[in-house]
Amino acid sequence: MDMPKTVFQKIADREISATFVYEDELCFVIRDINPQAPTHLLVVPKKLVARVSESAAADATVIGHLIVVAGKLARDLQLTDGFRLVINNGRQAGETVPHLHVHLLAGRELAWPPG
Ligand code: AMP
Repeated sequence: MDMPKTVFQKIADREISATFVYEDELCFVIRDINPQAPTHLLVVPKKLVARVSESAAADATVIGHLIVVAGKLARDLQLTDGFRLVINNGRQAGETVPHLHVHLLAGRELAWPPG
């Protein structure tokens, strides 16, 4: 039996609406519905990989692509004061959607170490 779609698969298939800011053959970028910074984007692979800890060598191209796309968006959006990329893996790290994605956060001071 097919696994139920993740919220991001439903967004990719236009079954749930979202604000798209970029899309290509491997990934798409949407605005986070609950932004934690003035700019809070999610870079999501179209291929479902649940989380980093379940990634395989065959996922290297698509996962690397997510970071390249984040860099392009940061340039396009002129995030010259800085930005942060975050991937939450597992409960203790705050993962809530079991579909790997990169958060791109910018537009305010971002504390280090993170909470
Ligand atoms: P994580 O907690 O790292 O798994 O991140 C999941 C992110 O997805 C959270 O920041 C949520 O606010 C965001 N999110 C959940 N549902 C939606 C949605 N329908 N549209 C946009 N962002 C969403």
